[in-house]
Amino acid sequence: MSHPTDESCIFCKIVAGQLPCFKLLEDEATIAFMDINPVNPGHALAVAKGHWPTIDVIPPEILAAVARTAQRVAKAAMTTLEPNGVNLLQSNGAGAGQSVPHLHVHILPRFPGDEVRLNWTYKPGDKAEIDAICERFKAAL
Ligand code: AMP
Ligand code: ZN
Repeated sequence: MSHPTDESCIFCKIVAGQLPCFKLLEDEATIAFMDINPVNPGHALAVAKGHWPTIDVIPPEILAAVARTAQRVAKAAMTTLEPNGVNLLQSNGAGAGQSVPHLHVHILPRFPGDEVRLNWTYKPGDKAEIDAICERFKAAL
């Protein structure tokens, strides 16, 4: 299967075997490997083999394959490390904190007292604003 590639992309180089990784698994459309800067022990990445930067441009069937790979890795993390939770995270664009513009899902095991800050507190929203954006989204779906 041929994939779009970007010769300057670090994940494309890993997919091509030009850079080493701690590989977990590989299938036709995806690869999973350990994150080299783990936020917590067991931090891993499920990565599309092709170079699609973000969620809006990746073909949906490839995204589904990335999700399946992320699920497999999450289950392995759960049975192996027995964390008290696992976050799956996927960032799109520098404004969302994406540093590698090649679509990937983080599998991030969580442990008591790990001080990883992803949580926000609930604050009731403005119903009119929620409704207005809901309508705009529906028009775009
Ligand atoms: P993001 O900030 O969501 O784009 O995440 C990119 C992730 O890729 C970061 O968690 C990095 O630690 C990780 N990363 C960057 N280079 C490598 C590499 N060569 N091998 C494994 N993980 C990497
Ligand atoms: Zn790439």
